[in-house]
Amino acid sequence: MHALAELIRDVPDFPRSGVMFRDVSPLLASAEGFARCIEALAAPWRDSGVQVVGGVEARGFIFGAALALHLGAGFVPLRKPGKLPPPVQAVDYQLEYGKDRLELRRDVLAPARRVLLVDDVLATGGTLCAAAELVAGAGATLLGAAVVIELDALGGRSRWAERGPLHSLLRY
Ligand code: IMP
Repeated sequence: MHALAELIRDVPDFPRSGVMFRDVSPLLASAEGFARCIEALAAPWRDSGVQVVGGVEARGFIFGAALALHLGAGFVPLRKPGKLPPPVQAVDYQLEYGKDRLELRRDVLAPARRVLLVDDVLATGGTLCAAAELVAGAGATLLGAAVVIELDALGGRSRWAERGPLHSLLRY
């Protein structure tokens, strides 16, 4: 049995020079590693009454959909621009390497739904904070966030701050 950390591949200088990319592909490709990962992601949220898991494109879809099934919740995608049919609400945000925008279907999150956000990696926190803004804008209740990997040096946790509990499985 591999430790989850052994199933993360470190890729230097990707997607640009000086960046160490943490690649979850080996973890996803391992039936046992993926199952344990979803189990561990779900553990802190079992009794939280999660109704909807919001997954951030693209790897947040993979972890988020599996987690939603595990928790008996629905799944809502938070997508890159131009992918969702209207009506959408959008938030612009700063990335570790560039700028981006996240969109949510306006009518898909009923007010007061209890939402857990999921992504593969928390770096600067820009993406998850944008996702949190979209959830709040939809009138839903943000329970917190779950990520597989947290990159401590990039300060995502302090940027996330008081938005709710933030659980990560692996910290670098
Ligand atoms: P942030 O917005 O700076 O927190 O960056 C997080 C987003 O960028 C997530 O959606 C990740 O998928 C992606 N990301 C940033 N760094 C990495 C990495 O090292 N590996 C995989 N994805 C990353």
